[in-house]
Amino acid sequence: MKILVLNSGSSSIKFQIFDMKNVTSMCHGMIEQIGEEIGHINFFYKDKSITKECNIKNHSEGIKILEDILMKNSVLKSFDELGAVGHRVVHGGEYFSKPTIINSDVIEKIEKVSPLAPLHNPVNLIGIKAISKVNPSLVQVAVFDTAFHQTIPDYAYHYALPYEYYTKNQVRRYGFHGTSHYYVAKEAAKILHKDINNCNLITLHLGNGASMAAIDKGKSIDTSMGFTPLEGLVMGTRCGDIDPAIIFYLSKNLNLSIDELDNILNKKSGLKGICDTNDMREIEQKASSGNKRAKLALEIFCYRIKKYIGAYSIALGKVDALVFTGGIGEHSSTVREKVCNNLYNTLGIKFDQDANIKHNTVISKNDSKIKLFVIPTNEELEIAKQTYELLNI
Ligand code: ADP
Repeated sequence: MKILVLNSGSSSIKFQIFDMKNVTSMCHGMIEQIGEEIGHINFFYKDKSITKECNIKNHSEGIKILEDILMKNSVLKSFDELGAVGHRVVHGGEYFSKPTIINSDVIEKIEKVSPLAPLHNPVNLIGIKAISKVNPSLVQVAVFDTAFHQTIPDYAYHYALPYEYYTKNQVRRYGFHGTSHYYVAKEAAKILHKDINNCNLITLHLGNGASMAAIDKGKSIDTSMGFTPLEGLVMGTRCGDIDPAIIFYLSKNLNLSIDELDNILNKKSGLKGICDTNDMREIEQKASSGNKRAKLALEIFCYRIKKYIGAYSIALGKVDALVFTGGIGEHSSTVREKVCNNLYNTLGIKFDQDANIKHNTVISKNDSKIKLFVIPTNEELEIAKQTYELLNI
């Protein structure tokens, strides 16, 4: 079975096709600047890399252009050859705890929770509707970023706010990056030679957006992102945990509107707020040449992660492994060292410097009580796998 995985954004569609017979990627690419005068298509197939410019009016036209490229390059004869399309959908609210075949009821529910993810769910739906328009008989599956965290117990997902904000306004912790946390957790289980349902893990997805998850016997029991992706770790441009009273203070004293504060906390804070860049490579370079604010940004970033490791170790009681993933988790030996190098006395972690510098998969010593892994995430592959499993039970 061939599965097309789509990640639709407001003006872009990321795509990848998997052949599930041998679980390999056949091609991938991105359609960008949809709705603008000149749109771009980047397509990678075998050794070929094709770049094209043309006007792409809307997502439906983008999907038609994609089908055309796939046919012209002999990847597919038509979309009829696909077994299904798996969509990344950011928010499933409390409705969805697993991948789900899309029908009108599912679409309605995704629409209902759209106010919780106004930048993402509506455009994810545009992608779904664009496929229905081009090929109505194609089976479509929604894989939700929030689904993996639906096992978090009530005492961990509730905020101590008036209760009706939960019952009437759906205010609770949902968590995000679920597809990535689940994917690397399963990969970690393979390395540990254990069933995922017997593994206790702390997964660290450290990219521009960053979150951690506490996984108890294969199930998420806590995660650092909350009602929105703003909570938790320090991120590229998001502040993560702050005292909410700072918002009232800034609003009153600097006369900032709610929209301005939203923009500041989401786009101008985090690493960028501290040292003017959210690129960890640049921060590391600047820090090593003595730039004080870059050093501070690095320290703040790693310290917040360590606090969550402590909290999640206690929440889990027993931890088999910490798993690093995401652009920073996979590539920054500096961050991994700062986070893990001094956790022996508290957690019995024996960090392996050499393995870390070499970006090995296992970066802990053999006799470390808790193992340390570096595992590249692959959300698209996980979406394809979940779509395939759902249709082949
Ligand atoms: P996104 O959340 O946008 O998907 P990524 O997972 O691609 O983000 O991660 C982006 C982050 O990873 C950036 O801060 C980038 O600087 C960092 N990064 C990528 N490569 C390296 C590297 N070799 N060393 C340190 N940081 C890196």
